[in-house]
Amino acid sequence: MMQSMDNDSLTQRDLRVLWHPCTQMQDHESLPLIPIRRGQGVWLEDFDGKRYLDAISSWWVNLFGHANPRINAAIADQLENLEHVMLAGFTHEPVIELSEKLIKIAPPGLGHCFYASDGSAALEIALKMSFHYWRNHGEIKRTRFINLTNSYHGETLGALSVGDVALYKETYQPLLREAITVKSPDCYYRESGESWADYSTRAFVEMEAALARHTGEVCAVVVEPLVQCAGSMRMYDPVYLKLLRQACDKYQVHLIADEIAVGFGRTGTMFACEQARIAPDFLCLGKGLTGGYLPLSVCMTTDEVYTAFYAEYTARQAFLHSHSYTGNPLACSAALATLDIFRNDDVINRNKALATHMARATAALAEHPHVAEVRQTGMILAIEMVKDKKTRAPFPWQERRGLAVYRHALERGALLRPLGDVIYFMPPYVITPEEIDLLSEIARDGTDLATRE
Ligand SMILES: *Cc1c(COP(=O)(O)O)cnc(C)c1O
Repeated sequence: MMQSMDNDSLTQRDLRVLWHPCTQMQDHESLPLIPIRRGQGVWLEDFDGKRYLDAISSWWVNLFGHANPRINAAIADQLENLEHVMLAGFTHEPVIELSEKLIKIAPPGLGHCFYASDGSAALEIALKMSFHYWRNHGEIKRTRFINLTNSYHGETLGALSVGDVALYKETYQPLLREAITVKSPDCYYRESGESWADYSTRAFVEMEAALARHTGEVCAVVVEPLVQCAGSMRMYDPVYLKLLRQACDKYQVHLIADEIAVGFGRTGTMFACEQARIAPDFLCLGKGLTGGYLPLSVCMTTDEVYTAFYAEYTARQAFLHSHSYTGNPLACSAALATLDIFRNDDVINRNKALATHMARATAALAEHPHVAEVRQTGMILAIEMVKDKKTRAPFPWQERRGLAVYRHALERGALLRPLGDVIYFMPPYVITPEEIDLLSEIARDGTDLATRE
């Protein structure tokens, strides 16, 4: 007998056998799970025919819409020739071409690409490479990393160790290595009337002190340039990155830029580091790298780091890290098609008008009695709901006000998935001004509804 294919029957089958990410599964006793049948551009369609505007790019990965014809064609074409080959001892054209292109567009000096599948794995690689670089130079006392409060770098144990979002980290604390955690330049905490640049500059004092105090123990400083995405889309000024690059040079410490979420145009430039005119020693990319199609991440690094591992095999200095699907050709072909779209469609420039439209469409929300701030960096816009606008006291987290917005948005045909009480837009770049208007209306009504006593 053929199984029926509607939302209800698929949900029932799903909940019998699956365990979903970032979810208290009991929530689904009352919260609908949404089986998606197809995607087209910014729209997702469920098995009952209802459509949802994907305002958060399916967890920040999608750049040019679902079922993008150009990316589809590139993958189909690659599929005809080679689906996969191991990357140790073997190579293929898509991974070579992708590396050449990434090196061309990334901040200067990043001459080598080491691939993995998920973002967390790219972070692990950067941490291990940095540590191992110092070790290959005889500096065996360097075993620590400096990170920022409220930072997020993924969920694997190494990545969690340098993260600071309690919700994800706290439980596993006994398993983690201790990082040296320095106050984030997060401009939500600036004084009224203070500029982002002034606040971020002021916050740097703590970083400088930590670097001075821990000279010789630290491998690297790891940051998310400009926007701490999983940390509620908190933002800071590029001046902090400029000061950080200078200080890392002064104290001889690596700088790891985690652009897994902010890379590929999210902050208004191709890479967030460009806004500070700096280049890190390690650049981690993932998420949008394949346009949201396939898992692929990369840790880019300098020739200097690469050279520190280059020796006779018997010197035992090689980086012997590996993942089964390293440099998968299908994923690389999706990434190449994604980079082509950036170039051919002048995406970074065209996004400026969309970013301006997002600002205009949501401007009135700043006056809402339960909105502390509407903030924006490029194609990321966040609306922070609070209990008390004046003191910025948050709603008790148990009240789950953001979840009410999520439910409301689903009813209205949008996928908005607030981080706690922070509603945000991080849409695919193929969204239209009219669709932004629709989202803003849904966010406004959702905020009204969720903040009612
Ligand atoms: C999502 C994210 C990661 C982890 O990437 P995964 O692909 O989920 O493993 C790491 N760093 C940042 C800044 C991220 O946003």
